[in-house]
Amino acid sequence: MQLTTPPAPVDVAALFPELAGQGRTTVRLHPRRGAPAVTDSSMGGPLLWPADEAWPYCEASQHADPSGLWGGVAMVPVLQIYARDAPELPFPAGADLCQVLWCPVTHQPDHVPVLQAVWRDSRLVAKVLTKAPEPMESEEEYLPSPCVLSPERVREYPSAWVLPAKLDKKIVEWSMSSQNPEKWSYQYHLSTAPGTKVGGWVDWIQDPISMECDRGHEMSHLLTIASWEHDGEPCKRWTPLEEQHRLGPYQVSELLEPANIMIGDAGSMYVFTCLECPDRPVETVSQCS
Ligand SMILES: [Zn+2]
Ligand SMILES: [Zn+2]
Repeated sequence: MQLTTPPAPVDVAALFPELAGQGRTTVRLHPRRGAPAVTDSSMGGPLLWPADEAWPYCEASQHADPSGLWGGVAMVPVLQIYARDAPELPFPAGADLCQVLWCPVTHQPDHVPVLQAVWRDSRLVAKVLTKAPEPMESEEEYLPSPCVLSPERVREYPSAWVLPAKLDKKIVEWSMSSQNPEKWSYQYHLSTAPGTKVGGWVDWIQDPISMECDRGHEMSHLLTIASWEHDGEPCKRWTPLEEQHRLGPYQVSELLEPANIMIGDAGSMYVFTCLECPDRPVETVSQCS
């Protein structure tokens, strides 16, 4: 089903010329419970994985509770995105499929899953693995429920956390003034889209962090994996038009937490990649409130 974000209630770029050129497009993936196939883009769905290629296992010794007997923990699928659904992803030459897996066991010292991204040419997968290995151990909150995706492009502006102090102050003054009778909040309604998404601005929960690859290049926001699609105040702007009638005083958990994951305390995992390294290495940052 096509899901549609309501249009921005305020044109912030017109109101604050300092934001000129700062608009970016993000692809909201809108995961919703479903039964995706290996040939679909999905969250927590089956991956198009070659039958003759070893499945990734996490051998890390930093598991919070190492039982000592494991031969490794099978990684679990988190996202699979075909280029046809999000051509905005910086696919390496020849690849048309981005597969993201994580280890579903808590790692020290950050207590978040360790993630791996695989870039693949789907046309080279002849025989498809029919059943992925089940992880021997896992935390329930790191096992995403299968969801289909409905990619939608939305215009975003930088998080209030990354604005120059002077502009931030100007925006705060505007938001509390009579020029903003509906009390729109830049941070919650007018800047970054919450939820699981590709590209665009990072919806920082805490202080912004800049990431470097092993070769010292500045990395770019690849995608965000979010515990919640939107919550509380941001609902007013970011709930798709098609679903607004389903949100009331009691929010519907399958709309807010479609994949039923929990990163920290309702946090998000921000995945970064290097646009200069041709193999597109990834690093992650996780934040929660
Ligand atoms: Zn692990
Ligand atoms: Zn690099």
